[in-house]
Amino acid sequence: MPSCTLCGEKAVMSSSYLQAYLCREHFIKYFEKRVKLTINILGLIRPGERVAVAVSGGKDSLTALYLLSKFSKDMEYEVFGLAIDEGIKGYSDLRIKCLKDHARNIGVELHIVSFKEFFGASLDEIVKLLKEKGFEYKPCSVCGVFRRYIMNKFARELKADKLATGHNLDDEIQVFLMNAIRGAIPNIVREGAITEYSTHKKMVPRIKPLYFIPEKESLIYSKLVGLNVFLEAKCPYVIHSMRHPVRRWLNKMEWERPLTKYRIIATKEVIASMLGKVETKRSIGTCEVCGEPSSTAICKACFYKNYLFGK
Ligand code: SF4
Repeated sequence: MPSCTLCGEKAVMSSSYLQAYLCREHFIKYFEKRVKLTINILGLIRPGERVAVAVSGGKDSLTALYLLSKFSKDMEYEVFGLAIDEGIKGYSDLRIKCLKDHARNIGVELHIVSFKEFFGASLDEIVKLLKEKGFEYKPCSVCGVFRRYIMNKFARELKADKLATGHNLDDEIQVFLMNAIRGAIPNIVREGAITEYSTHKKMVPRIKPLYFIPEKESLIYSKLVGLNVFLEAKCPYVIHSMRHPVRRWLNKMEWERPLTKYRIIATKEVIASMLGKVETKRSIGTCEVCGEPSSTAICKACFYKNYLFGK
């Protein structure tokens, strides 16, 4: 790797959009400044707020928790971690242990909620049921709905004003492309660095401080600052996800045509703002079964609960 464009020290990364090489020190400063600017310019967090950070143990959520905790004193807000134990043998257990160590190391309170306690079945048990029923729904679809449900409910019950996630630039583009493939236009309008559901008081606004950070840079940062990232195992159900081929295609395009990712996110922002003028903020109702926010009469979590367990 050549030397840092700014100081001549050994570079740790090269950036095609900056057209520069950066050393450890300059990269860390640049990375942290960008996350702080995203928070400030987009008004993601206000002084006095309480922020729940959804942590999975991966590099992005640990980076989000680490940085939000680091900035919290100066920016005058409170932060805590919220994790979900899905109950995936050889994966969730190891990940939760890693997360507890990380939270202890950085002195942040961590709350853990398990699928088993909350829904009465672990994800492994749920996948068995899905198989028995002919795999009409994919594990990631059910897991994603259950996770979002728990995250919103517990963030609210723990008095969070915002729910932060570790979604990075690559995640956002993948979601945009998946929504485009499904033709889910309201989701394209709704997804962004801040997702507000002003129409339902039980919905905690979601924020994404790493919205403009490419996945590669988040990985480099987490390694450089020594975060205890969980790398030992992968979720065995990830292969069923649509995200998998979309991610591969996106990385291939970026490799062949540098800046593809930034062009797509810029296009997405323009489309979302143009559509937003027509498609007003989605109005959210209340689930007739559980009383949680829902855009349909019965929320997706209650639908899956009934499908899986008949309740
Ligand atoms: Fe859940 Fe899919 Fe993520 Fe596994 S890969 S934890 S099943 S969303």
